[in-house]
Formats: sequence, structure tokens, C-alpha cells
Amino acid sequence: MDVTIARHAGFCFGVQRAIDMAFKALDETKGPIFSLGPIIHNPQVVGKMQEMGLKVVSDIREIGVGTVIFRSHGVNAEERDEAAKRNLTVVDATCPFVEKAHEYARKLDTEGYQIIVVGDPNHPEVLSILSYTRGRGVAVPSLEILEGVTLSQRVGVVSQTTQSFETFQSVITEIIRRSRQVLIFNTICDATKIRQEESIRLAGESDCMVVIGGRNSANTRRLTELCSQVQPRTYHIETVDELKEKSFEGVEKVGVTAGASTPQWLIEPVVGYLKNL
Ligand code: SF4
Repeated sequence: MDVTIARHAGFCFGVQRAIDMAFKALDETKGPIFSLGPIIHNPQVVGKMQEMGLKVVSDIREIGVGTVIFRSHGVNAEERDEAAKRNLTVVDATCPFVEKAHEYARKLDTEGYQIIVVGDPNHPEVLSILSYTRGRGVAVPSLEILEGVTLSQRVGVVSQTTQSFETFQSVITEIIRRSRQVLIFNTICDATKIRQEESIRLAGESDCMVVIGGRNSANTRRLTELCSQVQPRTYHIETVDELKEKSFEGVEKVGVTAGASTPQWLIEPVVGYLKNL
């Protein structure tokens, strides 16, 4: 079978960096070591880290002593302060692109702007950006939601790093229409967009598409959804074992892609299996 792998399948820069930092910390740290939530949305990688001693907690107040790893999509300002108060050793794996969004939110707050964060109000990254606005920021996931927000005459805008450009553009266009002074920081990261565009193109050129990644990974689920729209024969799997139950009858060309939190060691066996079919 002809197998084509998307060029950017798997870890983005920020996730790769966070994973490297976490494994290094697990190798070198003597005392207890924690992460605030799973480091990435991939159960196989998190399982490996747990075998090496990582404990995943949901609240920083559960940690009495030791080392805490901050995930690539960042933590709240309050959690950062709490870690310092508790004298915890911090391994800060926050992606530099997310840190940039924090920095802009803080700047807009200091300069007295009303702050709009274009993104999902329940996503940890958006919550972390909002925490740098001292409760004055508002998360706006869509143009429809913006309609219910009263805008001041000075508005500052940042985006969730994984936001779609189209939504960001529609929200800022409306803000410009309704406000006098608008300061915009485009903090969208291209990694998601590049993965989506490549996967859609590959799905269109293939008889079947395989998407690898955690079922709890929003970006992997989104890749599956987008590929399915172009190629209805799209399979979302976490590991190679799941392929054995899938039918590849009549397939000559198969495309393979993977979410930004999927490691190479989960992608390679899938490619090997498909090549041998
Ligand atoms: S998607 Fe972009 S912002 Fe998010 S972790 Fe990856 S590189 Fe960083």
C-alpha cells in the first residue's frame, strides 16, 4: 500500500519542548514530582511519565513539597504565585508563544484597556491569559457571543494560540466597528493551521486517512473531523493495535497524520503496519 505521512504530523515546537523538559526533570529530580493536569493530551505519553514517578494533580494546593511542571499551555497567575508561596521547584514548560499572550494581556491591563481574549472560555490556556488581566478580561469564542458584550471606547485584543484566523478576524472587525481605539495582538500560532491544511490536502489525495492521537486531544479530534469531511473513510486511532480491527479493502493510497500531542514512537509503528499490508 502506498503510505504518505503529513510533513508536520505529531509534536509541535511547544509540546516537543515541554516533553523534553518533563523527561529531563523526571530523570534528574530526586524528590516527588508533579504536573498540574496532564502534561499533554496523550494517555500513552502521560502513562510513561507516571511509570517514571510523575504524579498528576488538578490543584496546586495538593502539593506539599517537591517539583511541579507547568504545561505548555500555561498556568494561572494565582497558581504561579501559589507555587512560589509553597517553595516548590518549578519546571516551567509554558510554550513561549503562550507566554507572549500572557505578556500582552498584562500590558493591555496596565494600560487600562478593556481586554477581549478571542478563544474558548473553558480552555486552560484562555483561563491562564485571563488571569493576567486581574479579572477584567472577557473570553469571546465567537462573533455571536461578542454581541452580548458591552464594549468600552478602548479595547485590547489577544487570541487563544489555537484560534482559527477566520473567527479572530470576524471578532476584531466587529470590535473595530463598535469601538474608537483598538489595540490588537495576533497571538495565533501557525502550528495548528499548518497541520490542518496539510491533513485536509492529504485526505483529498488518499483513499483512506488515519489520524493518530489521544481521544482527549481536542486538536486530534478536530483533525479527524476535518479529514472526515474530505475523506469519509477516516480512522482515528490512539495506537497501532486499533488498526487490526479496521478494513483497508480496496485502499491503494493511505494518508497518515497525527495531532500536535502525538509522539513519533506512536506514529512509526502505524506507518510500518500500513506499509506491510
Ligand atoms: S500549538 Fe503553538 S502555541 Fe500551542 S504549544 Fe504548540 S507551538 Fe506552542
